[in-house]
Amino acid sequence: MAATRREFLKIAGVSTAGLLLLPFSARAAAQVGVPFAAGASSSAAPGTLTELTAKRWAMAVQAGKCPAGCRDCIDACHLSHNVPAIGNPKDDVHWISLERLERVFPAEAHPGMPEAIRRLSVPVLCNHCENPPCVRVCPTQATFKRADGIVMMDYHRCIGCRFCMAACPYGARSMNYRDPRPFVRKLNPDFPTRTKGVVEKCNFCEERLARGILPACVVACKDRALLFGDLEDPRSDVRLILDKGLSLRRRPELGTGPQVYYTL
Ligand code: SF4
Repeated sequence: MAATRREFLKIAGVSTAGLLLLPFSARAAAQVGVPFAAGASSSAAPGTLTELTAKRWAMAVQAGKCPAGCRDCIDACHLSHNVPAIGNPKDDVHWISLERLERVFPAEAHPGMPEAIRRLSVPVLCNHCENPPCVRVCPTQATFKRADGIVMMDYHRCIGCRFCMAACPYGARSMNYRDPRPFVRKLNPDFPTRTKGVVEKCNFCEERLARGILPACVVACKDRALLFGDLEDPRSDVRLILDKGLSLRRRPELGTGPQVYYTL
């Protein structure tokens, strides 16, 4: 059933693109699963699905656009990737979580900052760092960086040593201290489940990019608080928003080079 629906979406997407032959925004395209993203290269010939590629994938979080209490990005991500909902903080597994802005950027918070801004909750996730310390310390190369900047996990190579978790200054990784499979809310058969003793984290939806679709969190965000694209393409959604004004990265003093940017 799932495969049938997926095939339908592919055909519908291709037909739409082929029939209209009109430019349309990445946002609109992604919402219906059509293979296209602003600022991402796609050499899609009519009638084919082509992976989205970039020289350097990056995300921008428009913090002021995150509605209070909204968890759409988290739900979309966790359902899409079979992230278990274990329900106790000790064993918690997450790819995205919400954090107070004042905690995400403690150096920028000060008593004169408006309460409404300090208490904003924003999504935090793996930053797909330019110089990822997690990759440097992994003894089995289970975590590695692709040429387009995505920091990947090979679950089969992970031996659960947690060096990567100790090295990541952002708490972006989670360990499966127990078998996660009974805690998967609704199994997505298109994405692998993990086992006890394996570390996991956000993968910038590389499996969706390979099918020509933007990340699940970006598509799920009705308020367009999350933007995604090629940092090296001046027309990409990410670059267009970064070009508008001040943006911040988490703990830049560490030299990790986060590729998730925050604007207000
Ligand atoms: Fe690695 Fe953490 Fe950077 Fe992600 S945020 S690439 S897990 S160091």
